[in-house]
Amino acid sequence: MTIQTIGVIGAGAMGAGIANLAALQGFQVILQDIEERFLEGALQRIETFMSKSVQRGKLTEEQKQQTLGRIKTTTALEQFNVVDVAIEAVIEDIEIKKDVFANLDRITSPNTILVSNTSSFSITEIAAETNRPNQVAGLHFFNPAQIMKLVEIVRGYETSDVTVAHLRELVTALGKESIEVKIDAPGFVVNRIMIPQFIEAIRVLEEGIATAEDIDKAIKLGLNHPMGPFELQDFAGIDIGYHVMEYFSKEFNDAQYAPPLLLKQMMRAGRFGKKVGAGFYDYSQKQTKEGVLK
Ligand code: NAD
Repeated sequence: MTIQTIGVIGAGAMGAGIANLAALQGFQVILQDIEERFLEGALQRIETFMSKSVQRGKLTEEQKQQTLGRIKTTTALEQFNVVDVAIEAVIEDIEIKKDVFANLDRITSPNTILVSNTSSFSITEIAAETNRPNQVAGLHFFNPAQIMKLVEIVRGYETSDVTVAHLRELVTALGKESIEVKIDAPGFVVNRIMIPQFIEAIRVLEEGIATAEDIDKAIKLGLNHPMGPFELQDFAGIDIGYHVMEYFSKEFNDAQYAPPLLLKQMMRAGRFGKKVGAGFYDYSQKQTKEGVLK
């Protein structure tokens, strides 16, 4: 199978990053979202990302322009009739994802491979919305997709060996490393291990054991992680972790995975950040000022 054109659904943090990555590696890309303004925002972020690469001498202005020339944007999913692989990166909502897959199954060619960038949901459940579950898999990129080295290839119950082989080749062509997740258990490998760490970090903060800054410092210097759990949650957007925790607690039938109260409050207050320092650091400073943390 020759993959030339990649369709990306959802032009948020991940969709824009994946579209940029694919175009940088020479693929033709169609990026779709529900409203024009999301597509404009995505193109702007892609432009800014590549301009920084040009400034750092990692990309020429010509390569940047050629890359932008390979990205077509649209609000019409119908244009995906020409894509070889469709990568879904819409918000982490199972009903929306199922709907997207049912539409992709109707619109794309029967050979097209359909993948989801979901952080946790069952690929098997998503694939069941299509008439080609053997050609559906998870392709889990990390944020920012242009930079992070790993992609998890996730098998649904019906995913064929051929599909996995094509995806392995695609990941290599995108300049990334892959691991195969053999069973689509919630959170796959990385988030299965990361989410309990997030939960414990929030509990340590809630109990007043240390500030968000010091917890991050401890994990960075004590465990050699490049980012602390709060930096990482603020960067990814606290809504992602929140939804994954809710899903884990339901799927594993274990309240230990439920979002801690502080995270629930931040969600209710609309602290959706996607910027280091946007959420947990504010809280930590507020608590320190009010004398809750010494
Ligand atoms: P985001 O909120 O930044 O972007 C989601 C985009 O999807 C928005 O632009 C929204 O308009 C669009 N959208 C919603 N419904 C749509 C529909 N029906 N059709 C087309 N577009 C639609 O979210 P994100 O952070 O980019 O996350 C996207 C997916 O990637 C989620 O499944 C998330 O769990 C996963 N993921 C996120 C991260 C991360 O760190 N942010 C990392 C890995 C995987």
